[in-house]
Amino acid sequence: MRSVRFERAGRESYGVLEGETVRALSAAPWAGGLPEGPAVALAEVRLLAPVVPTKIVAVGRNYRAHAAEMGQEVPKEPLLFIKPSSAVVGPGQPIVIPEVSKLVHHEAELAAVIGRTLTRAGTAAEARQAIFGWTCLDDVTARDIQRTEGHFTRAKSFDTFCPIGPVVETAVDPLDLTVSCRVNGEQRQRGSTRDMVHDPYLLVAFVSQVMTLYPGDVVTTGTPEGVGPLRRGDWVEVEISGIGILKNPVA
Ligand code: ZN
Repeated sequence: MRSVRFERAGRESYGVLEGETVRALSAAPWAGGLPEGPAVALAEVRLLAPVVPTKIVAVGRNYRAHAAEMGQEVPKEPLLFIKPSSAVVGPGQPIVIPEVSKLVHHEAELAAVIGRTLTRAGTAAEARQAIFGWTCLDDVTARDIQRTEGHFTRAKSFDTFCPIGPVVETAVDPLDLTVSCRVNGEQRQRGSTRDMVHDPYLLVAFVSQVMTLYPGDVVTTGTPEGVGPLRRGDWVEVEISGIGILKNPVA
């Protein structure tokens, strides 16, 4: 199942993508939403970010090669940080580079979408039961601010710094996906989720030991090597095999 959110005639809805058509749902699919109304051509709707998370939990340096390119060791335990829900944008919406940063980077990532409230999961298997599906996420980062401050909050939290989408796919194996990033059609990142230090199920379990995860919350799993700059006028694409392509302009 490929779940989406979309806007049509001023109304926002969850929906299911079936080929080139979208069918509206009465609520989020993880909240028991049921199909309502006729199928509509994809070309007649505007896709939104497929989730409305209360929080986005992210992890630093979860691929060895990316940790190396940042000149850092892989942490023993997952290094968590949070991106605010106010940073979320959908496919096609611009990433706006703030005046205060001279170096904004893309980070292509696989993200888990939570389907059921999860508190203190004891095992990866328990975490797995709470995950609804998988989507693409661009963990846009003001690298200069991250370097000078050490803290991640300001560098990772500017409005528009969290594109998510275009779909949440329920039927992929997150342990064997290709994550890539292109800027203006040129490949910048390409990695396999097989190379993660902590796999996505372990990460979700680890996060839930700290904070309760609610339906629609997002846990993003780190970026492979090849991060690089975005400039105004660029188009950036995050592609994950079996899920889709998240494409955003840079403004
Ligand atoms: Zn990241």
